[in-house]
Amino acid sequence: MLSIVFATGNNHKAREAEAALGGAFRIISLKEAGCEEELQETQATLEGNALQKARYVHQHYQVHCFAEDTGLEVDALGGAPGVFSARYAGPEKDTESNVTLLLRNLEGQENRKARFRTVIALILDDREYLFEGVAEGHIALRRSGNQGFGYDPVFVPEGGSRTFAEMSLAEKNSISHRARALSKLQAFLQEKAGAPGTP
Ligand code: IMP
Repeated sequence: MLSIVFATGNNHKAREAEAALGGAFRIISLKEAGCEEELQETQATLEGNALQKARYVHQHYQVHCFAEDTGLEVDALGGAPGVFSARYAGPEKDTESNVTLLLRNLEGQENRKARFRTVIALILDDREYLFEGVAEGHIALRRSGNQGFGYDPVFVPEGGSRTFAEMSLAEKNSISHRARALSKLQAFLQEKAGAPGTP
């Protein structure tokens, strides 16, 4: 079975990845790989940040690995918070403050269209690959639900009326940005694992 490090310190993301990849690969956490440090995200794009994290782990621990970066893009805010989603309300990266600021900035706004975008950077056999997943939806008027994390309580994926935070992990994983990117990763890895000469 192919072992691969998921370069994230976020347990929610790790659980989503394990569920989405369906046990076909052994996902190793940063801690298990011996990496205790917080990975830097200082690039101007999701792609740049995902690559920055994957390259760091690859260079320091010589493992197959992938990293991801996710942003919430709100049309009425010109695509903000985007790559700055974690630090929207300040460098403390406080989720509650981020969501409060988002709701405040959208007060009175009729166009609440938004999307989550995830970019995964994979480094396998010293080569880099990118995979993207998008979930379209809108920002609710107020928070609902207590599942998930981050902006989940205010994000309503299209086609329904409930937020991601009102869904089980399995339900979120059937339509989420991260699950879509992970399913591309899974298809790619499965093809590689089936090809001769791969780990
Ligand atoms: P990062 O990818 O960890 O840098 O996340 C950027 C910001 O988006 C953070 O505030 C996260 O909490 C939030 N975020 C990332 N993924 C999700 C998600 O699936 N649902 C809700 N918020 C998310």
